[in-house]
Amino acid sequence: MKIGVLALQGAVAEHVNAIQAVGAEAIIVKNNHHLSHIDGLLLPGGESTAMHRLIDYHDMLVPLQAFAKNKPVFGTCAGLILLAETIEGQSPHIGAMRIAVQRNAFGRQINSFETNITIQHLSESFPAVFIRAPKIVAVHEDVEVLATYHDDIVCARDRHLLACSFHPELTNNVSLMHYFIQMVKEHNEVVS
Ligand code: GLN
Repeated sequence: MKIGVLALQGAVAEHVNAIQAVGAEAIIVKNNHHLSHIDGLLLPGGESTAMHRLIDYHDMLVPLQAFAKNKPVFGTCAGLILLAETIEGQSPHIGAMRIAVQRNAFGRQINSFETNITIQHLSESFPAVFIRAPKIVAVHEDVEVLATYHDDIVCARDRHLLACSFHPELTNNVSLMHYFIQMVKEHNEVVS
């Protein structure tokens, strides 16, 4: 199974390591051609405004929207923002996931923190690292809320789309990546 990591900006190498750690092949995605070779895609954390501009610059917006319609995508932090159908105060970007987000909802860089949270379907608590993290402020009724932190939604699944506010790649715990890989496997079984 091949999982792409969008590598225009942000935390790429750590996601590559996590993908390999769960036994999948990691593919660096820098252009539209790379998208045709992968079963699922990871949108990393970083700075969503910068990623947004680079996606537009490389003419990747429409192909990424088409990809997210049909294939599994996992957005982490800034990647979650790009995936959201609604971004408070600005227009959406890829816009595939039926959630609304508020950027920088947990404060500035200096307010970054790590905390253990419970994520549905994972057997143990998860060490979540929040860095200028967004929160999910509304979800479509069919979206499954997978985790909250102080009543704020920080991880959710909408069909074949997964998103979290925090940075799973900054810990050694690959259980959420494992969950995504299972989503990709199930998706491949349904479509094949
Ligand atoms: N605050 C960033 C943004 O709005 C996201 C931060 C992150 O990915 N760690 O794009």
